[in-house]
Amino acid sequence: MTETIYIGVAWPYANGSLHLGQIAGAYLPADIFARYHRTCGNNVLMVSGCDQHGTPITIKAEATGQTPQQVADYYYAEYLECWEKLGISFDLFTTTGTKNHMETAQDFFLRLMEKGYLYRDTVSQSYCPKCRRFLPDRYVEGICPSCHTAGARGDQCDACGKPMNTTELLEPYCRICHTTPEVRDSEHFFLKLSAFQQQLEEWVEKQVHWRPNVANLTRRYLKEGLRDRAITRDIEWGVPVPVAGFEHKRLYVWFEAVIGYLSASKQWAAEIAGDPEAWRPFWQEGSKSYYFIGKDNIPFHTIIWPAMLLGYGGYPLPTDVPANEFLTIENKKISTSKNWAVWLPDYLSRYEPDPLRYLLSVNMPETSDTDFSWHEFVRRNNDELVAAYGNLVNRVLTFAYKNFDGKVPQGSIKGDAATALLNLADDSLQKTSNSLARCNFRQGIQTAMSVAREANRYLDDTAPWKSIKIERQAAADSLYTVINVISALKTMLYPYLPFTSKKVHEYLGFSGNIEAQGWARQSVPTGQAMIEPRPLFIKLDESIIEEETRRIGT
Ligand SMILES: [Zn+2]
Ligand SMILES: [Zn+2]
Repeated sequence: MTETIYIGVAWPYANGSLHLGQIAGAYLPADIFARYHRTCGNNVLMVSGCDQHGTPITIKAEATGQTPQQVADYYYAEYLECWEKLGISFDLFTTTGTKNHMETAQDFFLRLMEKGYLYRDTVSQSYCPKCRRFLPDRYVEGICPSCHTAGARGDQCDACGKPMNTTELLEPYCRICHTTPEVRDSEHFFLKLSAFQQQLEEWVEKQVHWRPNVANLTRRYLKEGLRDRAITRDIEWGVPVPVAGFEHKRLYVWFEAVIGYLSASKQWAAEIAGDPEAWRPFWQEGSKSYYFIGKDNIPFHTIIWPAMLLGYGGYPLPTDVPANEFLTIENKKISTSKNWAVWLPDYLSRYEPDPLRYLLSVNMPETSDTDFSWHEFVRRNNDELVAAYGNLVNRVLTFAYKNFDGKVPQGSIKGDAATALLNLADDSLQKTSNSLARCNFRQGIQTAMSVAREANRYLDDTAPWKSIKIERQAAADSLYTVINVISALKTMLYPYLPFTSKKVHEYLGFSGNIEAQGWARQSVPTGQAMIEPRPLFIKLDESIIEEETRRIGT
């Protein structure tokens, strides 16, 4: 039965280049999941976009002497190029700067207001007497009241993930001039989160398939009791509040950006699908919705967005929020301000996309933080990609191509060892499918790689390069067997290594789209004309470890 799968991916602030932490945290797993479901023949919609309205954008603009729009446009273009090069296959990657998004966000606001889920209240806001302005979220820093980490931002603590208001920070200071802010009154709209406490508790208890980190953190917030939160703020940059008297205020970005999941779906329908109603199947009962985010975003997707959806009415709540833990770099927490990061555009300027996709997949921070190091990158590339998978494909296809007139040998699956190997490949296709459907991405790629290793052993045992001199048919049978295993691997590894699978697909003599073949071993006809294969992966020189490591943090 065909499933309808909606995939929403975190909206990055358009204020800096993407780094590997974001890729491992949300974009790569989302893409793997989308490619898997498309190959299964399911209806998939994967969307996201730049969040161009946060204070991170205005802060960056002020620091670089640009307008916020210039900053957002620059990074939006850079992200699109990164997705293309890394193979992150969005159906639409947009921005929160569109008219469609503004209208969708304002409609959401007005509907919640009509239904009594919004109210006005006067709030104490941080105000800098020296800068003579209100200081929304990231313009104030201080000590986190929850975990006591210094340098916490006024919107959310990076260390413990606690979302907060600027006035909750201990020892606060203005980010611009370091003055201690005053507290001044300002009128704002509030979202009545407390009204959803019981509904959310009941819903969360039923989500037994959620990852423990996601379920536990969500329960902890619910246990503390949901508090109403301001959804407007004193700033000029953002989506206008559609109410008279609020001309100088904007929708708060945490409220507005999540609505992007819906507005992007509508934009995709109108502009790409060519049917303005095409978004609806993804937003009604019977569809499944998955939100891929980093762990710092969990409460926004398991509490706030579900509350907003309940309040609006008619749209399904998330099926799963497979949030990842963090990726560290060389065993240290990523810090973009200290340049302790590996930047994606930088990586892509020097290396192929699939070795990175491979490393971040086998080492994905699904249940705990994992580490990226250049040493590990080189090791996994050389010892696993090149030595196991690349070597298998290269040996077999090159030998077959050279000795059988560039065609798939006229062989058959003969003997117990060949049958066992092919059964293993078919079982592994099923196992990988189960892992992928449950968002267990590490497990899926490990299953696939063990098939490649087993096929190498079979190849060493049958040694067609020897048997071809004595018994040509035995060599043809052995090659034909492994070629069919490679065809299974091409599918199993496609979600993870799409560029590589496309090459293998073509070397085997197939044309067209891999996804159209379905989640099955595509049988390779004997006598099919192949394309002369080239090595799938390049062995990396150990010297790059030191070279690359030196770049970090400087
Ligand atoms: Zn904290
Ligand atoms: Zn100031």
